[in-house]
Order: sequence, then C-alpha cells, then structure tokens
Amino acid sequence: MITKPFENTKIILFKTPDEQKLMKDAIKKVESEFGKEYPLIIDGKEIFNSEKIKSTNPSKPSEIVGLVSKASKSQAAEAIEKAYKNFSWWSKESQAKRSAILLRAAEIMRQRKMELSATMVVEIGKNWVEADADTAEAIDFMEYYAREGLRYSQETPLMRINGEDNHQVYIPLGVGIVIPPWNFPLAITTGMTTAALVTGNTVVLKPASDTPVIAYKLVEILKEAGLPDGVLNFVPGSGGEVGDTLVDHPLTRFVSFTGSMEVGKRIYERASKVNPGQKWLKRVVAEMGGKDYIIVDENADLESAANGIVQGAYGFQGQKCSACSRAIIDEKVYDKMVELINERVQKIKVGDTREFPVPDVHYYNMGPVSSASSKAKIMSYMEIGKKEGRLVTGGKEIDLNGGYFIEPTVFADIKPLSKMEQEEIFGPVLSIIKSESFEKSIEIANDTIYGLTGSVYTNDRKKIKKATEELLTGNLYINRGCTGALVGVHPFGGFNLSGTDSKAGGPDYLLLFLQAKVYSEKV
Ligand code: NAP
Repeated sequence: MITKPFENTKIILFKTPDEQKLMKDAIKKVESEFGKEYPLIIDGKEIFNSEKIKSTNPSKPSEIVGLVSKASKSQAAEAIEKAYKNFSWWSKESQAKRSAILLRAAEIMRQRKMELSATMVVEIGKNWVEADADTAEAIDFMEYYAREGLRYSQETPLMRINGEDNHQVYIPLGVGIVIPPWNFPLAITTGMTTAALVTGNTVVLKPASDTPVIAYKLVEILKEAGLPDGVLNFVPGSGGEVGDTLVDHPLTRFVSFTGSMEVGKRIYERASKVNPGQKWLKRVVAEMGGKDYIIVDENADLESAANGIVQGAYGFQGQKCSACSRAIIDEKVYDKMVELINERVQKIKVGDTREFPVPDVHYYNMGPVSSASSKAKIMSYMEIGKKEGRLVTGGKEIDLNGGYFIEPTVFADIKPLSKMEQEEIFGPVLSIIKSESFEKSIEIANDTIYGLTGSVYTNDRKKIKKATEELLTGNLYINRGCTGALVGVHPFGGFNLSGTDSKAGGPDYLLLFLQAKVYSEKV
C-alpha cells in the first residue's frame, strides 16, 4: 500500500511573490470565517452548547477567530463512555485501513496547507514560516505514524523452542485522553491524536483553550479522510474545569499530555490512583516544559552561535518547549557574544504576523505572545531579570491594537541557580550566563529540574565528546540551534521534569500506545 519511503515536508520560506500571494489569500479566507461557531463532537454527533470558548486573535484580541462549544463535565464523561463502546470494534480494524486514513488525512492537509497555516497566524500569532512549519510537521507525523503502525503490526520475532509455537503481537490499550498545548496547535495535536488512533485506540481530544479552531479543523480532516464516527471525540473545555473528569474516569486507559510541568505533574499524580470500577493502571505519556540552553565555547564560530541563540530564543516569541532561554558563554568570548546577540535582536520586527510575510534568513519576525495571562506572566519576569542581572535590550510591552506584544528581551550577567536561570518563562526573554570553563558550562546546563533541549557550539572534538556524554538533555544538538526537531530525524522528548522522554516522531513512540500480548501453543 505504501510505496514511498517517509520524507519530511519541505518548509516554505515565502520568498517568492507567488508563495506570498497564496498566504495572503488564505489569510483573507480565514478572516472571512471570523466569528463562526464550532461544535463539540461526541460519538459522531455535533453538539452546540450555549457556553462557548471565545478564540481570539492575540495580535488583535477584538477579533474573534471562532466560538467553540465548551463541553460540560457530564459531556466529557459521556465522550469517554462512547469512546469505550467504540473501542470494541475500532481496535479490531485492520492496520492497513487505519494507516490509510492517516495517509488520506495527510493528503487533505497538503491541499489545505495555506488555510491551516493562516488559521495559526490569526489564532495564535505564528509568523508565516513558523505556521507553515507547524502544518508541515503535522503532515509528517501522519505520514510517519502510518508507516510505523504497519511496522508494529508485524509479529515480533521470538526465540524458538521445541514443542511450542510462540507469538508476540502488539494490541491497543483502550480509551486515550489527548491533551495538547497551544504552542504547536496543529503539529502536536495531530501527532498525539493520530499516534493513539493508528494503533487502534479510541480518543477523547481536549484541545488547548487558546487554539480550539485549528484543532476542530484537524477533527474535520480526519473525518473526511474516512475516520469512522465515534473513534475520535472532540471535547473543547477549560482544562481546569474538565481536566480532572477526563483523567480520573475509570474507563480512561491512558493520558497523552503535552504542556506545562505543573499540569503534567497533576495529571501524573491523579492518573496513578485506581478509581472504583477501574480495571487497569493508567499509562501517562507526559511531555512538559524546559529550560533549554546553548553553550558557547571559547573556540566556537561566534557568528553562527549568535544566530543559533537568537533564532532559538525568539522564534515564535520564545514560546517553544525547545526555546533557548539560557545562553551559557565562556568568559573569554562573553562580551563579544553579548554584542553579537544584541546586534541581531535589534533587527527583529514585532507586530501583527499577518503583515510580516518575509522573514530573512536569521531573524524571525515576532508576533504577539499567546494570551493576556501569558503576557502578564512574562512581564513579571522583567522585574526579576532587572534585579538578578543587567537588562541589555527590551523589557517592555508594545502597545499595538490591544495585542499581546512584548519586546525581544536580553538579560546579561544572570547567575547560575537564580530564578531567571532556573524557571521556564515561555516568552521572548533570553538570560545570558558567564561561565569560567567548558566543564562549568556543562554543570550549569545540567543544574535545573528540566532536561529537554540544548546545544553546544565548539570546534573541539574532545569537548563535543564530553558534551554528548555528560549533558543530561533529551535532544542535544552540536553546532546548530536547539529548536526545529524534524519527524523521523530527531525523535523528540525530554528527561527529568521535562517529561517521560516519549520521543515523539521516532521509532519508539507508537509503543507507548500499545501493549504486547504473547500466546504460546503446544505443538
Ligand atoms: P498548559 O497550561 O499545561 O496546558 C496544556 C494543556 O493542558 C491544555 O490543553 C490545557 O487546557 C490543559 N490543562 C490545563 N489544566 C489542566 C488540568 N487540570 N487537567 C488536565 N488538563 C489541563 O500548557 P500550555 O501553556 O498550553 O503549553 C505550554 C507548555 O507546554 C510549556 O511548559 C512548554 O514547555 C510545554 N510544551 C512541551 C512540549 C514537549 O514536547 N515537551 C511541547 C510543547 C509545549 P486549557 O488550555 O483549557 O487550560
């Protein structure tokens, strides 16, 4: 059925007028749908509730991207019960059929690529290239997991013994609760949802409240691709209101979560309790925050390191779990690096991402941060930064159309173990830390509760070896930036309180949604 090997989707840089026109038209189309109402979906039935999530444009919050029905607690429970009923037949569908649905959905996404990316430009403030990369990753996840599903459906070779015929096969788990974040609202939502579906599980998807419209479009695409009713249930709602109901329900078999450490820990703890009527131990796949770093050694290519730091710190306004929030610089090149970083930051433009078609190669234009509450949280760190270090540039809000804009901000002379150095800020704020040696840089990098991404710039092979051996980082890069993991190329997931190291987009990922069954026949 699948004839071509997996290949990553090419990202569009919008350099040509034709590409730019496609995005401008798509933005117009999406704007023409502002204010549209979207239902929740349980067992294939569309339900419009009077209570809605108002999804607004963070560049201009007076614009309502969509009004999405909000599920009540009883509807969340009903969705799990229906998903449980539908597991009985979906789990028995052939792998070929399940994989084919993902491939068709990937094809529909390719056809609707500009519209999906334009939706993210207005619903969460991605610039065009970042939005295109998000859609490309969603396509890649489906192409990759369709193939991986087929691989896992093959029997595992076992040792043979005389007098017995032994087999190991992988079977699905049951009902999965999928809880994604808003920051990769198509890619991560698609990856988490389709990994669970392709392995034969049924799903209750609770999208992030800041991005329910793009999540609805994923559900619509999977239906069009042939996913039967009731296999994927869509229950938008505030995590604080329906989250516990979804996690605690005795019919919930697993929770696949990506988001903050605080919420991840809560889910992990609640899911560990065996509730009345529950027949299993719930599995939790939790991918959480980071305090990611770039180490710059004394003999590194400094220009290239500065490019990596600036891209990593300010791409999508620093709102990536992989964002570079710490630059750990050898004291011998410290002053020069602060200067190179600052030079680049001065060139970043901030504004409504609809109007920023052409990023140049190194300096990604910045849009707004995701919400008023994110903005308030990030701004609270500006005061902390001023006390703990030296403000090099930025530090202020930008008043534009009521949007949630913040200047790209650099703090230098931040000390190891300070708040700025330890806590995930999740915004366009970089802390620069001076280090007396490469060994000390490694110690500083490792000394947080997280362990998601990091990068080392050095031209010394011995130091590269030391870094790969000693840095406790789920995704470590050498002489390149710390963001931009590609499906199939850089399986993604972190250590310690960054999560369960699930390695999304890699060969071990689907195993998290399967269990091995062994049967042995006397012959
Ligand atoms: P968040 O606030 O933890 O929310 C993530 C999801 O959890 C949302 O759908 C949210 O719903 C839901 N939620 C909130 N409270 C809940 C509860 N009590 N029970 C169940 N679900 C609940 O995180 P975020 O702000 O969306 O995303 C940013 C965080 O995600 C950062 O920490 C970032 O590092 C992390 N992240 C990690 C990875 C990775 O691969 N490691 C990737 C991307 C992002 P509502 O939206 O309704 O509140």
